[in-house]
Amino acid sequence: MESCKRVNLCALGGGGEVGANCFELSFGGHQILLDCGTHPKKEGECCLPAFDVLTRAPEAYIITHAHVDHCGAVPYLARMFPGVHGYATRPTARIMDRMLHNSVSVMETIAKERGIAEYPLFEHCDVGYALRFLESFEYREPFFLRMPDPVEVQFIEAGHVLGAASVLIRLPDHTIFYTGDICKRPQALIGGYKALDKDTQVDTLIIESTQGAANDETYRTYREEIEHLGDAVRDVLLGGGCALIPSFALGRTQEMVNILADLQEQGRLPQVPIYTAGMGRAIYEIYQQFSDHLMPHATLRPLEQFERLGDMWNPSVVERLLRRPCIIVATSGMMVENTPSALIAQHMVRETRHGIFFVGYLDADTPGHKLLNAPVGAPLQFQLNSPPVEKVLENIRQFRFSAHATRSELAAVVARIKPKNVVYTHGDPEALAWMEQNTGAGCNTFVPAIGQTITLEA
Ligand SMILES: [Zn+2]
Ligand SMILES: [Zn+2]
Repeated sequence: MESCKRVNLCALGGGGEVGANCFELSFGGHQILLDCGTHPKKEGECCLPAFDVLTRAPEAYIITHAHVDHCGAVPYLARMFPGVHGYATRPTARIMDRMLHNSVSVMETIAKERGIAEYPLFEHCDVGYALRFLESFEYREPFFLRMPDPVEVQFIEAGHVLGAASVLIRLPDHTIFYTGDICKRPQALIGGYKALDKDTQVDTLIIESTQGAANDETYRTYREEIEHLGDAVRDVLLGGGCALIPSFALGRTQEMVNILADLQEQGRLPQVPIYTAGMGRAIYEIYQQFSDHLMPHATLRPLEQFERLGDMWNPSVVERLLRRPCIIVATSGMMVENTPSALIAQHMVRETRHGIFFVGYLDADTPGHKLLNAPVGAPLQFQLNSPPVEKVLENIRQFRFSAHATRSELAAVVARIKPKNVVYTHGDPEALAWMEQNTGAGCNTFVPAIGQTITLEA
């Protein structure tokens, strides 16, 4: 392949927003995609990356990890471009299989509940078809994309969730490093992001900016946060109530149930049952299969140690569940309507003895955010097409367990790599602005908008 001193990058999603991450990289007459996600807050075809700006079929796509904002549009892409080859780490490929089939089921339900004609955007057979062309590799194992010209790629440990990787792409005369979502701090199960070897010269760094607007100097440490959460859960249980911890299915659920089990083993929490549900359990099984990818001294309890939630659509099942003190870790993390966490909260908010503890990011227009901020007495909706419920429960709090690097950690990543170009992605406008103003001194910096192509010179 000719020299790739000059490459083009176009954001199809994740430019100027957290969004449906997808970036088209063009070099030497080739096009590949970095990530191929869906927008978690949008519906119908609006949740897809801006595929209409593609002028040619991509020859490959590389997925950093299995959160849907990074991989949710893969079956749709495979339907548009049959036979397109994908690449991911081995755990990510396994988790994508579960996540994408689950997406089909969720879209089918939404189509029925709310009559969104475009749903499902793809079917189970499309997931199966797409994943036949997905190849998986170990971290640090160099491999070549199946293209007429060889392009060498390596996955680097990104922390964040099981299988999450940053991507190192070596083109003739141009090395690109795309972080994906990174977390520098080790969590209970997943170790922290691992830096590139010192001698790796990166020309272009494409970096996430999720926490760019959050001032991390005022944060408690991860350990302190665990203790605060433990105290809050213990008080609720000793008062005869139940604690609900809404959590994302991938990452947060597996971390959280093991943190809680650990607190029980230390005698800091009463030995009440810990409940989990559906997708969180399915992904837990993949954590068990890839236990060699967890931190060396992490304790992953057997899944059977955690009770299975029953049918949360049945009010008598929920009422029976809440009769005796217990801990419930259930999706969705933002308590989206009609999900287990929302269906359980709908019962809990009518009494004062329970506690609802959020442990992740809450978007402003989600029911979780409304519940956290609504005054006692406010009517709240947890289920579509059903009347609102009056909030009586006061004990609703948020704890900080982000699986993303803080902004000082992101700044340190940029400073250590010292690239020629830094492209800031995957952040709200305020977060992106902080990153551009406070990191990357001496570098060419870019914040591409969706559909905008930038030219990067090595
Ligand atoms: Zn993620
Ligand atoms: Zn993300």
